[in-house]
Amino acid sequence: MSSALRFQVVGEAFKKRPIEVEAPSERPSKFFAKYVFNRQKMQQYLPPKVYNKMVDVIDHGATLDLATADAVAAGMKQWAMQLGATHITHWFQPLTEGTAEKHDGFVEHDGQGGMVEEFSGKQLVQQEPDASSFPSGGIRSTFEARGYSAWDPASPVFVIGDTMMIPTVFIAYTGEALDFKAPLKKALHAVDKAATDVARYFYPEVTKVISNLGWEQEYFLVDEGLYAARPDLLMTGRTLMGHDSAKNQQMDDHYFGSIPERVAAFMKDLEIQALELGIPCKTRHNEVAPNQFELAPIFEETNLAVDHNMLLMMLMKKVARKHGFRVLLHEKPFAGINGSGKHNNWSLATDTGVLLHAPGKTQLDNLRFITFIVETLMAVWKYNGLLKASIVSATNAHRLGANEAPPAIISSFLGKQLSDVLEHLEQTTDDEISLTGKQEMQLDIPQIPELLIDNTDRNRTSPFAFTGNRFEFRAVGSEANCASAMIALNAAVADQLIDFKARVDALIAEGMDTMKAILKVVREDIKTCKPIHFEGNGYSEEWKKEAARRGLDVEASVPLVIDRYLDDASVEMFARTHIFTRSEIIARNEIKWDTYTKKIQIEARIFGDMCMNHIIPVATRYQSVLIENVHHLQQIFPSTELDDLTRNNLALIKEISEHTNFITSHVTALIDARRVANRIESDREKAIAYHDTVAPLIEEIRYHVDKLELIVDDELWPLPKYREILFIR
Ligand code: ADP
Ligand code: MG
Repeated sequence: MSSALRFQVVGEAFKKRPIEVEAPSERPSKFFAKYVFNRQKMQQYLPPKVYNKMVDVIDHGATLDLATADAVAAGMKQWAMQLGATHITHWFQPLTEGTAEKHDGFVEHDGQGGMVEEFSGKQLVQQEPDASSFPSGGIRSTFEARGYSAWDPASPVFVIGDTMMIPTVFIAYTGEALDFKAPLKKALHAVDKAATDVARYFYPEVTKVISNLGWEQEYFLVDEGLYAARPDLLMTGRTLMGHDSAKNQQMDDHYFGSIPERVAAFMKDLEIQALELGIPCKTRHNEVAPNQFELAPIFEETNLAVDHNMLLMMLMKKVARKHGFRVLLHEKPFAGINGSGKHNNWSLATDTGVLLHAPGKTQLDNLRFITFIVETLMAVWKYNGLLKASIVSATNAHRLGANEAPPAIISSFLGKQLSDVLEHLEQTTDDEISLTGKQEMQLDIPQIPELLIDNTDRNRTSPFAFTGNRFEFRAVGSEANCASAMIALNAAVADQLIDFKARVDALIAEGMDTMKAILKVVREDIKTCKPIHFEGNGYSEEWKKEAARRGLDVEASVPLVIDRYLDDASVEMFARTHIFTRSEIIARNEIKWDTYTKKIQIEARIFGDMCMNHIIPVATRYQSVLIENVHHLQQIFPSTELDDLTRNNLALIKEISEHTNFITSHVTALIDARRVANRIESDREKAIAYHDTVAPLIEEIRYHVDKLELIVDDELWPLPKYREILFIR
């Protein structure tokens, strides 16, 4: 891009006005889930017997027979065709980013030369997309490219445009999962079973425990003209170069400011469409960094919440384009200002309406509360390395530990009140507590207020914070599929609850009173999992040392963190909970390493090109102008005065040379490092090489590019600058 074109693009972006969004005439409560085949639609479009069967399938995991599937498909088809649908697709979440879909029309030959529109139970239940180009980490060699997608009745079908979308799992014919949803459903089943068993100590009427997820999605918006003028944004989703602008987020004026008009129009449009698709959008606001925003829905059952997040990310990209924006979901699109995360608010709740991670009114409720808190902490402590492995990626690595996001160490913040309760329990003995049957139980637990939420007591540096009635897993990346974190967390908690129950039951078998047994085990665990509990500043250097002393995982290299999936403890835990086999974990890790490598590889390539094709030429051109100026000065002034007159320019000429020499020689080194890494066979070793040798070079060279940006004539600079990208909306 020439600099003249840059000014033109900036000017055009500046002049853009919000697009008028027509609001539906109905209230949101009316148009909510308009395009979703939810229970209400099922009741309307399915015969009562079929409806009841579907409810049983959704709520209790009953198996679905083909006759029911046929009847459901018939009702769905009728509903979807009324909305104008002509196609169906099985919608799934492959191990790459985002979602995948393959569309088929309803049309079939009618046998008499015409067409009919059909949709059978078989088409609803199963489809066979060509799986050969989805990553499978060697599970399924390409010659037997057979994977199939299977309907997930727990997540409702929806219509977008002319297409009926059917949420599905994606599985190899050999049975291994090739997606995120299949293992997530297994993890949710495991935690349901394990938590139900424990909840029944307190409330025998419980038959099911639901895992809740409320995600908060952070994102950046940039004008599409400016986006298109940045090859790095276009190809990698982040700026690989760019100096801080004079003003960035230090005034905090964006966070507290009103939402810019063009953005407000985008948000309104997005929310209407999301609500129509059944996503219960609730909160929207500016975030800390300029042009950074957040959207959060009301929490839902985890499987559904994950689908809704995937759907929302898809929708955001589409709606942003309509408004002349591009949405950046990358965790760190701009250096020097906050990155984006996706806080995962997580809790367990019973089918009888008890929030297991929330304090209650009675002593019994509070012992249940303490039990679920402490056993969650035990799981997080045991599997802190694995939980970190579930959220690391090449992109999230730029955010973690970057002094605005959680550090690359998993610990848990509990707040003063809850910390005090645990400490008190730990220090009292059984003798000080009289346990006389459930109703009159005298637990010496200090009064726990029902509302523990205390905003002043929140610790933003904690990656896994207790926030009143839930835990907030904050290390999850903005671009990530939440399923990865939710699989690891729910699996670990399920496994821990099974272990807890076994120990409590052993004490009961010895004749101990149930509540007393629970308390005894909880006390032991409070002591055991202490290393995970940290109330201090997670950003500090001391914490890194302290965490290492405590035996927490402090590894920050993404390819090495991924190893935690293959620890014996992890492999055995996933086997016990029937979520992954060892070979599935190996395959999935290969994909993770390979994805890591590819991301850095693409960055290195585009970065090298930009250095050589954009930066070096303009720096050299500007240097020539300076040199020319020195020559001219030499022609008109006597030599005695020249030293003074040319000093500045000579210094600049030298400085430019130093930067351009560094850049050129190191871009060559970057290419060499890539070449060496590319020759490595093993996915893991290759990713390590990319992490250790390629990625650091990009950062090193960038420093010099950013210095040149400060020196070179603004008129020559070929890339939109931070101040132009971040303050125009
Ligand atoms: P914050 O102050 O962290 O921004 P919000 O009030 O915006 O918090 O809520 C964040 C998310 O947490 C929302 O999606 C909300 O529905 C969800 N949430 C609230 N309570 C729970 C809970 N018990 N379990 C899971 N998610 C919850
Ligand atoms: Mg939050």
